[in-house]
Amino acid sequence: MESKAQPAKLTPKLLFVFLTLTFLATEVCLAQSAAETLAIYQWWNPERIDNFSTTDPRWAGELGKKQSGYSLFHIGGRLWSPERPAPAGTIPVYSWWDSQRQDNFMTSDPRWHGQPGDRKPPNYGFVRLEGYIADPAMPQPENTVPVYSWWNKTRSDNYWTTAPGWAGNIGRIQDGYHLFRLEGYALKARDSSTNSAPESRRLSISHPLLPGVETVYAQIADDEALAYGDVLVGTMADSKLVPFTPTRYSQYRNFNNCGAQNSNNSDIGGSCNSLATKPSAGLWSGGIVNWSFDNCRANRRDLDLRFSMTNEEKERIRAALNNIEANTVIDFREISGRDERAFRTPEHLLNFCFDELDSAAGVSPLGFTGVRDQDIRFQVLDRFGNLRNRSTIPRISSRAIYHEVFHALGAIHEHQRPDRDLNIRVNFDNMVSGPIARAAMEVIPGASTITPYDFGSIMHYSPTAFARDESTPTITRRDGSALSTATRPSAVDYDGINLLYRDIVDGEVPPITAVRQMTLTINEVESPDEDGGAKTAIDFYAKVEIGSNWNWRPGDGANDTQHKKSGTVEEDDNIIHPNWQFSTLLLAGQPLGKASVIIRDDDGLSSNERTDQTVDIAEYVNQGHVEILVDGNSNRIYLAMPNGEFDADEYLGDIGDPIQLTRGTEGEIRGSITFTVDIHEVE
Ligand SMILES: [Zn+2]
Repeated sequence: MESKAQPAKLTPKLLFVFLTLTFLATEVCLAQSAAETLAIYQWWNPERIDNFSTTDPRWAGELGKKQSGYSLFHIGGRLWSPERPAPAGTIPVYSWWDSQRQDNFMTSDPRWHGQPGDRKPPNYGFVRLEGYIADPAMPQPENTVPVYSWWNKTRSDNYWTTAPGWAGNIGRIQDGYHLFRLEGYALKARDSSTNSAPESRRLSISHPLLPGVETVYAQIADDEALAYGDVLVGTMADSKLVPFTPTRYSQYRNFNNCGAQNSNNSDIGGSCNSLATKPSAGLWSGGIVNWSFDNCRANRRDLDLRFSMTNEEKERIRAALNNIEANTVIDFREISGRDERAFRTPEHLLNFCFDELDSAAGVSPLGFTGVRDQDIRFQVLDRFGNLRNRSTIPRISSRAIYHEVFHALGAIHEHQRPDRDLNIRVNFDNMVSGPIARAAMEVIPGASTITPYDFGSIMHYSPTAFARDESTPTITRRDGSALSTATRPSAVDYDGINLLYRDIVDGEVPPITAVRQMTLTINEVESPDEDGGAKTAIDFYAKVEIGSNWNWRPGDGANDTQHKKSGTVEEDDNIIHPNWQFSTLLLAGQPLGKASVIIRDDDGLSSNERTDQTVDIAEYVNQGHVEILVDGNSNRIYLAMPNGEFDADEYLGDIGDPIQLTRGTEGEIRGSITFTVDIHEVE
């Protein structure tokens, strides 16, 4: 019975027997009050290349169950029971089987209503009434999930799904499947025993590499919390990671002053140099990473060969580690074999393994965690939840290896940097719904940005990450133009690791090749007290906006290119030499850096004008500030035109030269500022 009598292969004769049994069972069940709803079990048969969904209790079971060549990979919501009257607002769902196509097909399409014995072209035979689903023509009821039908012509396979990654509009194409119908709304899976989705909730967190982050939305599986799509941020046993309560504060909340300053633009004073934060907590001591291939710590599969890596897969990982080692201060040391591990007993080990993951291609803890075996886990399942075939193509991509190893070294996602909105646009409208996708695109407010924003970073998600419609990107440049998916780390990625580790390693640090620092120093400020009144002191502040791609946005606290400093000068001493410094990071060879400067005295005046009387300065003053452009190639500095463009005639001086901007006209100087701009190696 078990091996042959599955609905998918029922002959008409067997079908008759089955229906009779069902009828008898129905009477018994009705007498005992049949269940109102039934779970939808989703099975996959790799030999038939067939997706099969049913509420038939004979196909119930735990995830991973095998039956007649099929594996149970998901429990996708519930239908109202076929053994009870259809509730208002629902329509019936029927299942069909085509033995030539070897295809199970379940649908609420009225054209596929039927009864036992019915046949429909090309060769589908009626199997059963599966239950009732909320009508797709009506608004979606609460506590339901949309069900979509997909068809793959090459595979002759119909696929019925509630998976968020398979939601979307009619016509969407993914992995050779074509979305052709919204079937209706199934009830959400009822409890953990019938729901394969891990628990998700918001947690309080303090992580040395996530300064300023007090809570994360995480999926919890095997006592571990997975945030941002693929980053393991801790275990529930870790006392730092506790369910979120609004009053709880992280011990790291003042880790980076930049975070606090960003959140309050009126906070004058304090430097927010992007290099201010150099955590050593969360990094691998001395830049040395002992590593191995072994089974995953959380889910030992010692006896299952399918979870072990092939030589080709191991070589792919070794090649990636060699490349990282060749370009960074990191020293990877392979600890091979159990005996060596036993004898050399490194205190901490980064371990590469395969595991059954919920969705990501790989997951990694963020930075050094301090546990003995710290796993980078790669997905061993295909998209139907089936174990991938070990003997075919490598199951891991180089991109996934580099991306996860960079997480393990301490790198966060590029698209979650605090300055991401100055560089990219996230199209939330095209993202699959739900908090997990949204959380993966959250900005990490206080995260240190030790390199300039890098569109080519391996730490960017792909341009269509979490897309509802994969023909439209979810991540673009600010101007809407396309980004590509990096398959290996960029020079800036490597610089980032070197900058992160260079103070904690003994050995030689490779040169920083792609990143330069631009520093604007305010050397002198002059502000005569023009009222000549009773003031005893004059307060100043300088506000500098600096970088390569900022937009001047007064009052916008989200703009972390704005830095402010303040000082006081006594009445009798109108000139001060504050030597205030403001820095930003540029890509080497980047043609233009920009800066703007405001100095204000307590009269509330704010503007800078140049001494050159041949130019009408009013033309250059835009909302009380003056912009300068720094040409990193010619080392020349220009006054920007009001539209932000640069004009070679407006040459102010060279990099390193003191440049003076004066307010007022000759004979009536009302204040001046002298500054220098330098471009140099990252400090
Ligand atoms: Zn990631």
